[in-house]
Amino acid sequence: MVTPTVKNVENIIHSSDKNTAFGGTPKLEIKDVGKIFKTKSGETTALEKTSFTISEGEFVTILGPSGCGKSTVLRIVAGLEEATSGSVLLDGQKINGPGPDRGMVFQAYTLYPWLNVKENITFGLKLQGISQKERDDVARHYLQLIGLEGFEKHYPIQLSGGMKQRVAIARALANDPKILLMDEPFGALDAQTRNIMQEVLLKAWDESKKTILFITHDVEESIFLADSVYVMTSRPGRLKKKVPIALERPRDFSVKGTVEFAQYKEDLLSLIREESLKAIN
Ligand code: ADP
Repeated sequence: MVTPTVKNVENIIHSSDKNTAFGGTPKLEIKDVGKIFKTKSGETTALEKTSFTISEGEFVTILGPSGCGKSTVLRIVAGLEEATSGSVLLDGQKINGPGPDRGMVFQAYTLYPWLNVKENITFGLKLQGISQKERDDVARHYLQLIGLEGFEKHYPIQLSGGMKQRVAIARALANDPKILLMDEPFGALDAQTRNIMQEVLLKAWDESKKTILFITHDVEESIFLADSVYVMTSRPGRLKKKVPIALERPRDFSVKGTVEFAQYKEDLLSLIREESLKAIN
């Protein structure tokens, strides 16, 4: 591992666009993707032409000020929004709409209220005609992974916000997607629960080896989770910097108290601050 120091973190941020830990065939390719929204009051450029790639198994966070187009990028990858220009390739195949090869977890709770925890986790598998026995095995595995054993018969209304998001993560992983797309999934949770959820997610990522694209405006969250943080410019957004995070894995909360973490935080905060100042000037 490269131990980050004040000097080499600066070098990483200012001179490198390569993540040395990952390479090979890209899992996700965003090529010159731009988005202009046309409304009655005129046109809004939500995203300037943007290109980046994510490798197999990589955990990428996109960090940027509010309104810079982070969710727009994610929604285009999810196939929920059509790009005005460019293309998105997943395993070399062009994305033309939503599909089960992309698992989604949003900030808003999206569990089916009429299904219990186990049924929510295995809903997609049931649609695929997977047997009850197999569904039970998958549910048991993910309930254990997210720390919700004993809650399989509970309904969403009986769960806290953090528990609902644990189930949402398990549901997305149970469908074995090629990539997990997460849009501020912990944004509505209190700070303590949010910290715990970050650790739950890292454990699930470590075990599942999934590729993850995670949107956040929280600098600490972006560092703690990621192999690479992509920082976006203020409106209209585009990629400003790719910042590889060389903190050792597996990570737990104690890494947030290290000098290396503080250095990443300071550098990213200053990049974001530059952008926020541009937005108000
Ligand atoms: P972020 O996720 O970074 O907060 P968004 O991707 O949600 O930003 O939005 C980027 C810009 O695009 C914002 O100016 C927003 O107002 C605009 N925008 C997003 N969705 C729509 C839409 N459906 N119609 C018109 N403008 C939109």
